[in-house]
Formats: sequence, C-alpha cells, structure tokens
Amino acid sequence: MPLFETATAGSLPKPGWLAETGKLWPEWKGTGSDLLQAKADATLLWIKAQEDAGLDVVGDGEQARQHFVHGFLEQVEGIDFANKVKMGIRNNRYDAMVPQVVAPLRLKGRVHAFEAQLARAHTRRKLKFTLPGPMTIVDTVADRFYGDRVQMAMAFAELLNQEALALQADGVDIIQFDEPAFNVYMKDAADWGVAALERAVQGLHCTTAVHICYGYGIQANVDWKHTLGEEWRQYEQVFPVLARSSIGQVSLECYHSHVPPELMALLRGKDVMVGVIDVASDVVETPEQVADTIGTALRYVPREHLIACTNCGLAPMSRAVALAKLEALAQGAALARQRFGQG
Ligand code: ZN
Repeated sequence: MPLFETATAGSLPKPGWLAETGKLWPEWKGTGSDLLQAKADATLLWIKAQEDAGLDVVGDGEQARQHFVHGFLEQVEGIDFANKVKMGIRNNRYDAMVPQVVAPLRLKGRVHAFEAQLARAHTRRKLKFTLPGPMTIVDTVADRFYGDRVQMAMAFAELLNQEALALQADGVDIIQFDEPAFNVYMKDAADWGVAALERAVQGLHCTTAVHICYGYGIQANVDWKHTLGEEWRQYEQVFPVLARSSIGQVSLECYHSHVPPELMALLRGKDVMVGVIDVASDVVETPEQVADTIGTALRYVPREHLIACTNCGLAPMSRAVALAKLEALAQGAALARQRFGQG
C-alpha cells in the first residue's frame, strides 16, 4: 500500500447524456433499459478516469443514483415517493423536496447491487462504496410515522447494515457512510449519531468509513460557511466519539476551510481522509498545494494513517474540472511522497 493513498469522497459529475448537469437532484435523460445502460456506461467511464488519473481507491462515482440520500431511499418500503413535501434540511440551511416516511421501513431488495458488482468486475484497485449515514437520512426525509428521530435513525441503520453486508459480499473493500448532518447537529451526532453508525456497520469486516463535510459547493452551503466565523470547530464534538468507535476511516474537509488542523489529532488511531481538494471552487489545485496540505495534516496525523481525499463529492461540478482535480490529487500525493516519504 502506497504512502498517502488517494481517494475521492464519492460522487462525480454525471455526463450530460445521463442526466442534467450542474445539479444536485438532476433529472435522468432516459428511461427503462436505456437509462440502465447509460448508468452502466457512466460508471465504467469514471472507473477508467479515476484509474487513469492515478487514484489508489476508486468508486462508482454515484452515477446510478440521482442523489446520495434519495438513491438509497428509492428501495425502501414505507416511504411515499409520489408525494414529496418541501422541507428545510440541514437545520433549514436550504429547502428540498423530500419523500415522506409513512409506514414501517423495510428494504424492497438490493439497493446498489448493479453498480457495485459492475464496478467490482472492472477494477482491481481498492473499491469504495458510499451510503448515506442514518442521521443524514433522517434529516432528508419527512417523518409521518416514527415521531422520534433516534428510533427512525436506528430503523434506517438496520436497513443500511443489510445493504452494507451485501456490498461486502459483492467484493467492496471500503464502505463509507456520508454524514454531513454531523456538522450541523453536533450534540446529537455525539449523543446518538455515532451509535446509529455503529448499528449500520455491525458484522462488517471490510474497511468502514464516515465522511463528514460542510456540504457540496452549492451557493446555500457557501453562504452558510460565511456565517461560521473564523474557526470551524464543529468536528471537535464528534471526533472524540468517533475515535472511540469501530469506524476505521474518517473523511474531513481541510483545504480552503476554516477547520483548525489540530482537530485532526482528535482522531488518534483512525485513518484520516484529509480533504486536499476544494469542491466549492473551479480553480484546480496545483500538485504543490496538495502536497502542502498533506504537509500541514502530517503535523497531526501519522503518515501511515493519512489518505489524501477531496473535501466532498464533485457531483455538481463540470466533468473537465472534476477530472483535472482528480489528476491534481494524484500528482500532489506523489509529490508529497517525495517530500515526506523518507525519514
Ligand atoms: Zn460531503
């Protein structure tokens, strides 16, 4: 395993022939078997592009799901997708049209078998697969049934666990849960969010990960970040709880954020996926900038635990910019190996 492995947080832009571009909830372009074929083609295209860029860990780029939360929910019984309602999410940071939980939750069947098995069949690199975390799901649906966020989170965690065990059987090496909500409801994250994650990873022997970010580079998130002040200390409450958990890897924002880098030291014993690529800017990082960020993180993270990653997913970006950023990520990690690899 190379020093400073490289990976992305998960999502990558969908090609224009698959879905609308530049959107978080894009409409698909095709239907039926044509759409399925287009999803497969886009998945293969991105696996090849990630390999060519030089990434050590590759993923499906979330090409087969419309959105990182709703892609999972579409296979859950007990959810009314036909009647979505408008709800403020992430503590009312922005409005989204969300489906409603109306009955006990149950999986209809496999959720991501198609793209996970396809990806596994076409790459020998480490394969990472992302799922939404229970707490973030709870924050992205309207509850008309459970009446209790923790109880509903645990119900979702059971379903996530079923799918995660199946993904592990498909040959996935790393299963990552995306929990941007941990940075919004810090006390809840420490009180029960991590416990719900633990339920979701029960029985897994593959590598497990959690991604905690300040959101995609959309305007509502950029505006929100401007209200967070000079120092972003949101990670401070949940990192110590994660350090005591069974989760193997933690993905965090670093480059261009106001996160004090010393907070990474709270993750002692974990692999830390350090965000060295900004997803809120189309300016492509130079390998030197990437290596500098890795150098900063090395003051707080042992080098054998440092993975170079993107701050968040790249879904709403242009393909050309995303591709250039993947290349910068791999080249920057290579430069860091030269700079920090010895002694
Ligand atoms: Zn993210």
